[in-house]
Amino acid sequence: MFHEAEIQCPFCFQRQTAFVDPEDRRESVQVIDCTVCCRPMDLRVFRDSESGEITVDVSRSGGM
Ligand SMILES: [Zn+2]
Repeated sequence: MFHEAEIQCPFCFQRQTAFVDPEDRRESVQVIDCTVCCRPMDLRVFRDSESGEITVDVSRSGGM
C-alpha cells in the first residue's frame, strides 16, 4: 500500500508529493529523483508500529 507523503527537496527546496512504500518493515530507504531539479534524494520511511503513523525524512543522496 503506497503512502502519499509531502516532502521538500533538499536541493531546490520545492515541495512535492512522493509515494512511499513502507511495506512491513519499520524503516526503509528509497531513492527518488526530484520532480523539479531531477537530483537524487534519499527518503527514509519510518512506520510507527503502534499508531501506524508514517514519517518521511529526506536527505541528499550520494553522501553530499
Ligand atoms: Zn529539487
